[in-house]
Amino acid sequence: MITVYCDVCRKKMDDPVTNRSFFYYADYSVCEACKDSLEVQIKNQVRNKDPFEMDWYEKYVDDIFSKAVQKGKA
Ligand SMILES: [Zn+2]
Repeated sequence: MITVYCDVCRKKMDDPVTNRSFFYYADYSVCEACKDSLEVQIKNQVRNKDPFEMDWYEKYVDDIFSKAVQKGKA
C-alpha cells in the first residue's frame, strides 16, 4: 500500500490507486475534491479565452495549481 498526500490540501490518501481518489495533474498530485475544484476554475477560464492558446493554457494550469498549493486550498 502506498500513501500519498494531496499537494493542495495535504490530506493523506491511503491506497490511492485502488480507490482512484488521487490524480496527477500538471506536476502536482491532488485529491479528487481539489482536482474537481481546480478543474471548474480552469474550465471557466478556458471558455472565456478566445482564441485559445496552448502556451497560455499550460502556463495558466501551472499557475492555478501553484497558487492552490501555496494557499493550501483549491
Ligand atoms: Zn486535496
